[in-house]
Amino acid sequence: MNESSFVPAGTRGLVLREGLLWEKGKPGRSAMSIPESGVPSASLPDDLAGPGPDWPNLSEQEVARHYTRLSTWNFGLDTGMYPLGSCTMKYNPKINEILAALPGFARAHPLLPDEAVQGELRLMHALEEYLAEITGLAAASLQPGAGAHGELCGMLMIAAYHRNAGSGRTKILIPDTSHGTNPASAAMCGFEEVKIPLGPGGYMEAATVRSLLTDEVAGLMVTNPNTLGLFESDLADVISLVHDRGGLVYADGANLNAIMGYADLGRIGVDVVHINTHKTLSTPHGGGGPGAGPVVVSRTLAPYLPGPRVVKNENGYGWNHDLPLSIGRIHGFYGQFRVLVRAYAYILSLGPELKKASALAVLNANYIKESLKDLYELPFDRPCMHECVFTDGRQKAVGVNTLDIAKRLIDLGFHPPTIYFPLVVNGAIMIEPTESESREELDAFIAAMRQVAREAEENPDLLLQAPTATKVRRLDEVSAARHPLLTGDMLY
Ligand SMILES: *Cc1c(COP(=O)(O)O)cnc(C)c1O
Repeated sequence: MNESSFVPAGTRGLVLREGLLWEKGKPGRSAMSIPESGVPSASLPDDLAGPGPDWPNLSEQEVARHYTRLSTWNFGLDTGMYPLGSCTMKYNPKINEILAALPGFARAHPLLPDEAVQGELRLMHALEEYLAEITGLAAASLQPGAGAHGELCGMLMIAAYHRNAGSGRTKILIPDTSHGTNPASAAMCGFEEVKIPLGPGGYMEAATVRSLLTDEVAGLMVTNPNTLGLFESDLADVISLVHDRGGLVYADGANLNAIMGYADLGRIGVDVVHINTHKTLSTPHGGGGPGAGPVVVSRTLAPYLPGPRVVKNENGYGWNHDLPLSIGRIHGFYGQFRVLVRAYAYILSLGPELKKASALAVLNANYIKESLKDLYELPFDRPCMHECVFTDGRQKAVGVNTLDIAKRLIDLGFHPPTIYFPLVVNGAIMIEPTESESREELDAFIAAMRQVAREAEENPDLLLQAPTATKVRRLDEVSAARHPLLTGDMLY
């Protein structure tokens, strides 16, 4: 790799000052020309009359410029590499968008009779089967609207299972590498979290789990590969221990992108897993949506799946509402349908090549890990899965920390990786390149990271000032969160 070949991506140029539409509007301007109304005007009844909303008045060109400028302020996958660990920002094929926009899908109403939506139902039925096959489990529900919602759904099923068995188990074992949503989901179902401390190898150890297991434990909630990007090497043993003691196992499947076609979760003994279709199965996400977090379950938990369930019957496809053990509906209608269309399209377009996607995701992460570990501290030096975690351990000595490194990467044209997560590693820098970056792009990112490490030694001030090539510099993130300014005062 040639270190001098790195050229910053297009982060410099015109800085367009952009106010709010309300600040730009002038009374009397309009972006519409509609013909005179032929209907006489009438006043609203008193209880509906009022001053009305304070809409800004602007010309069409002002509106077009405003939104076009704002759109260039976005950073997205179609702009550049987005190595955000734990989030799987992979390429979202455009064919998914075309298919999700087909009028038959886009205009379908959830209240249409079954016979009018046979295509939709067939798609949902097939997608459930594909998800079962990909995970090695028995049955699926597409209802949950996000990963965390899938966790909640899985925990509700585990609670229902124990209730049905007449046991009042109250505790859930959760490794301390877990995503913050895991303990939150368990707590929302009334469970108490019991933390499993991390073993020295970067994974939970069977012996530790054995010592924490009691008859009060309802189950285990585990992310595999874990949030350090490492495979839970003791998982099969841990699961036998939990099952032997009467508990069930929830797998957080947000990291499925590392193991598709390689790890059979059914054989490992998982009882329920959620899939972040928006991560692993390609839907543009971030900024809070959209997503879908289907759950896939073992035979044991299948009767508890949310209802109604899509079924194949003598008339084609329809809904089964007769589910006595089901936890019931957890979503209005049937889930985030058009996100699911994208997942379906992605699975069909890759087919068995899904396995290759995982292989390349793992290869790319290991390539980055090996290319940077001479300059950045690597807390667990073993082969990683789809992401690798460094720290600012070496840079701290010169007063540079993870945040400074992340900010400097912005100047060099890259979206920063995930920082300060997972919490079990101090100053974590978590990099997930995904399978969709080319060798050249990976090399450019590595060169940028190497440049930042060199600058930390030679010119730490540069990093402390960064970013300098952006429209705004370091924002006061704490004040922004605590006292958000929603009235449109200018930032400049
Ligand atoms: C992203 C993620 C989640 C939460 O998924 P959302 O779709 O954002 O709700 C849960 N666990 C892990 C490990 C994740 O990376």
